[in-house]
Amino acid sequence: MGDNTDTDTKFSVMCSLFTWMQKTKTSTKKRSKFRKFIDTYCKPCDYFSAIRLILPGLDRERGSYGLKESVLATCLVDALGMSRESEDALRLFNWRKAGPRAGVNAGNFALVAAEYVNWANAGFHAISSFLAQVLQRRQGMTSGGLTIKELNELLDRLASSENRAEKTSVLSDLIKKTNAQEMKWILLLCPLPSLANTDLKLGVSEKSIFHEFHPDAEDLFNVTCDLKLVCEKLRDRNQRHKRQDIEVGKPVRPQLAMRVGNANTAWKKLHGKEVVVECKFDGDRIQIHKNGKEIHFFSRNFLDHPEYAHSMSDVIMENILVDRCILDGEMLVWDTSMNCFAEFGSNQEIDVAFDILYVGDTSVIHQILKERHELLRKVVKPIKGRLEILVPNGGLNDHRTSGEPRWSLIAYNVDDVERFFKETIENRDEGIVLKDLGSKWEPSDRSGKWLKLKPDYVRAGSDLDVLIIGGYYGSGRRGGEVAQFLVGLAEHSTSNTYPRRVGTGLSDEELDSVVTKLKPYFRKNEYPKKAPPNFYQVTNNSKERPDVWIESPEKSIILSITSDIRTIRSEVFAAPYSLRFPRIDRVRYDKPWHECLDVQSFVELVHSNNGT
Ligand code: ATP
Repeated sequence: MGDNTDTDTKFSVMCSLFTWMQKTKTSTKKRSKFRKFIDTYCKPCDYFSAIRLILPGLDRERGSYGLKESVLATCLVDALGMSRESEDALRLFNWRKAGPRAGVNAGNFALVAAEYVNWANAGFHAISSFLAQVLQRRQGMTSGGLTIKELNELLDRLASSENRAEKTSVLSDLIKKTNAQEMKWILLLCPLPSLANTDLKLGVSEKSIFHEFHPDAEDLFNVTCDLKLVCEKLRDRNQRHKRQDIEVGKPVRPQLAMRVGNANTAWKKLHGKEVVVECKFDGDRIQIHKNGKEIHFFSRNFLDHPEYAHSMSDVIMENILVDRCILDGEMLVWDTSMNCFAEFGSNQEIDVAFDILYVGDTSVIHQILKERHELLRKVVKPIKGRLEILVPNGGLNDHRTSGEPRWSLIAYNVDDVERFFKETIENRDEGIVLKDLGSKWEPSDRSGKWLKLKPDYVRAGSDLDVLIIGGYYGSGRRGGEVAQFLVGLAEHSTSNTYPRRVGTGLSDEELDSVVTKLKPYFRKNEYPKKAPPNFYQVTNNSKERPDVWIESPEKSIILSITSDIRTIRSEVFAAPYSLRFPRIDRVRYDKPWHECLDVQSFVELVHSNNGT
């Protein structure tokens, strides 16, 4: 080795790099090892193939794999030729729970799955005759010699295959061409719903990878969100690349807000600046790119949303008065009957544009925010309930009816900020964003030109004392242990309870001690999930079931929870309302189980909070 021009880069080399990086503690060493890999072992034409495997979360070339844990488990079990009823297959299906051999990997699907593939590849367990055949064709732990180019082709096939049979066939191909260690890394590359994002957990940031690859890689990625383009344009790693501006049609990484604790800190940070304060909308960040008739809606993680482009295309064509532009804003839901923003549901989508990044043939991110607000006013003709602009003295603010709160304003002192913050909290909004009106818009910047201030927590008028009736196993660190609770309310006439799931709020120790106390009364809900004990009433049409039930209510413990006071009508659970962002405040060992809140009092509380 040592010559990076004549051999195709092997995946086994990358796996050694991954393993080494994961074991190594210091980030300097990790970085220099990666540097050496790129310098010595990776052919320039393989840069994209290699970097997309290290930063899978940034790769948009390949469609989604369409794999949920259950699908991947079934495909793997089939690819390995295991019986779906075998103990091993069941453990894979019930990967969240601790089984007899679950050990440290419980709760991490990829690692549990990898254990099986490990056994298969290494020949520890001849799980079935099919597997034995697979193993015969293989040579123990020797790498199948897969190149990273071939691996990417197989992963493309996995993503484009439309049914389980095809996916199973790709997986069995992969199993044949790899050894156990390689297969473990491949499974970690598959984005799964239980993991927030695909991450190999190498302990090295995307910034460092970009930096070692090329000094201009990060900047170029921020304005294009295109890993392939970055790897190809910067193939000559000694050649500097002129800073590129944003382009219509290429998503750009959004400007972000720095969190501050209170209005005073925020005001001090923006000392001497001209400041606008805006409502922090609780929707999804969206960039609208209009290029003639071509429209794209890009989310914060640069995914294209053609469904929005489709439903909003008439609005965009008629109300954006220039041919080409990029708008930055938030996508929300508008309740057409009530004429206000809605939580979610079948109402229509509305875009609130709070910034503009490109007009005609020019990027305008280098102009100051105050000027960009003026451009927004000129370029967008607001249309109530569909497309609004957020600018001080105008736009959305002009569309309020009397008594409605303002959506943004220029602040002249800290009291203005404080007052606006209070108003938004009373209006049950998420918080506020303060922006320096003299600042440029900078891709991916969180250095404090925008500051966000959110309430610590909105309390329901009084504590909600609810009873634990079930538990859910956690994943990751809390894999195999109950980490979330299903809680219920009393219904006095029938002594049934109505449930709702709550999770965060307790320290690890508090959680452990509740779980230890309740453990003797857990009744496991094996796959497929069984009906609840008859004390509990859950809606029949809901599939929502905890992993364990508490045998009977009198064995259980009361939790005091706080919750966002905006409640939502519950379709999942039997209670008439469900809570938003419920959080455990404390454990009430002192309260007997039958003193938990009852449904009637809960409904009254909701009504008094919602002013109905
Ligand atoms: P959070 O979880 O608090 O929303 P975040 O990490 O998603 O934070 P931040 O950069 O901290 O993102 O906050 C900016 C986000 O707030 C934007 O991505 C956008 O979705 C949202 N937002 C809502 N209203 C505004 C607004 N008026 N100006 C800018 N961003 C806004």
